[in-house]
Amino acid sequence: MSSANSRPQSFWFSTLDEPVEPRAPLDGDAQFDVAIVGAGYTGLWAAYYLNQREPGFRIAVVEAEVAGFGASGRNGGWCAYYFSGIEALLADPNTRERALALQRAMFDAVDEVGRASTAAGIDCDYAKGGVLVAGTSRPELERVRAGYDEMREYGFSEDDFSWLEADAFAERARIHGVLGGIYSPHCAAIQPAKLALGLASFLEARGVAVFEQSPVRTIAKGVLTTDRGRIRADNVLRCTEGYTCRLPGLKRTILPLHSMMIATEPLPDSIWKEIGLHGRPTFADYRRTVTYGQRTADNRLAFGTRGLYYYGSGIHDDFNRGDPSFVHTRSTLLELFPALSGVEITHRWGGVLGVTRDWMPFLQFDARTGLGAAGGYSGNGVAAANLAGRTFADLVLREATERTSFPWVNHSSRKWEPEPLRWLGAQGVRRVGEWADAVEKKGRDAGLLGSIFDVFAAH
Ligand SMILES: Cc1cc2nc3c(=O)[nH]c(=O)nc-3n(C[C@H](O)[C@H](O)[C@H](O)COP(=O)(O)OP(=O)(O)OC[C@H]3O[C@@H](n4cnc5c(N)ncnc54)[C@H](O)[C@@H]3O)c2cc1C
Repeated sequence: MSSANSRPQSFWFSTLDEPVEPRAPLDGDAQFDVAIVGAGYTGLWAAYYLNQREPGFRIAVVEAEVAGFGASGRNGGWCAYYFSGIEALLADPNTRERALALQRAMFDAVDEVGRASTAAGIDCDYAKGGVLVAGTSRPELERVRAGYDEMREYGFSEDDFSWLEADAFAERARIHGVLGGIYSPHCAAIQPAKLALGLASFLEARGVAVFEQSPVRTIAKGVLTTDRGRIRADNVLRCTEGYTCRLPGLKRTILPLHSMMIATEPLPDSIWKEIGLHGRPTFADYRRTVTYGQRTADNRLAFGTRGLYYYGSGIHDDFNRGDPSFVHTRSTLLELFPALSGVEITHRWGGVLGVTRDWMPFLQFDARTGLGAAGGYSGNGVAAANLAGRTFADLVLREATERTSFPWVNHSSRKWEPEPLRWLGAQGVRRVGEWADAVEKKGRDAGLLGSIFDVFAAH
């Protein structure tokens, strides 16, 4: 799996002060208390909290490429309250109470990422400017409003979610055609790669072993193997998200879905006067095919749209500048902010996120075997992975806490369909989403199209 160039092409990596030098691989056999596969946020936060709580624990993180190579070094930098699948958990009376607690824990996770990174001396450009979600057509507005009303009915307050009429919204972000939307303070914009790399360096300084360029080939009770050595450990945690399908026997567990991002050149004050975004709130409209953006610390716009699923769970780590997906991402950004039409796009990249069959994240741990796994965040893992790290620490230490009672703990989703059904389904759902969006942007109800998409691709 290891590529000649382990550095992902994201804007976040390419604008770091120092180039990233891969750490040495695992070479030979070794023994640890905990071995973690994958140096994204899930694996790194798990190592972080285990190390904080049991400094004597011998912990190894084993990464195929470099820390932050996956989604954690490429994402939109929304450290946000949203937990994929929470709507279903809240709607079900059997899980509602635990889901409410989970939602509050997600609010706290946004702050905890700021607290913990500051405590670790990591500057990841964390700015808690909240999040703005716009409705730009009547049907979109109705859906945003329904989501807002639902959260208020569950008891979340005006301090968690507030409703903005068109003028009030436009004062914060002049998204073209905005009719109204939600503001929530529970989101921070971050520089994703700085967080992942900062965590890896912090852990290493605290005595955690970080092996890079070391693809793990097999995971079993008490042992993982790489090409150049094996690690024996009482606890082995798999934190491989969109790449999980490459491990033996796990092809249909998590679907690798790509998401595409662009970044503009630094923008002048005249443009910021026109588009707003003071205080660096993150922003999106409410189309089904997903948009997400942030104003970066150096005053660019970094913006993304949901991309493709490739046949056979293919994963693309590097994309050609001319990839049509980037044209789509740019034109979507211009739809939201026409003032950007003459602005240069300086960076283009994509990454892979992990989606389970029911779009519900999972965090599994078997106290008898010491085997654990977490992921399936469906593109909403920046804050959730921090919660996962703390929950893994509870479980590995065999402590029952409020976190270990949350409904995603030991949740398992059914497998994805074999090919070609998986590909056909993913293409079909994507097309239906695009059609539904196009109909809604004209102000008409998407009707059945919208319902079909919502059933198969809740987000
Ligand atoms: C373009 C994009 C934009 C996104 N935007 C947002 C956003 O704004 N907000 C948000 O909340 N979420 C966002 N997400 C999702 C979020 O980034 C992820 O949910 C989160 O980073 C998942 O972290 P992770 O550690 O579980 O997985 P990853 O960061 O993908 O890390 C997995 C790691 O495991 C390694 N690995 C895999 N297999 C092996 C193996 N066999 N052996 C060794 N190592 C292995 C990989 O190389 C990788 O480094 C986005 C994702 C993408 C792709």
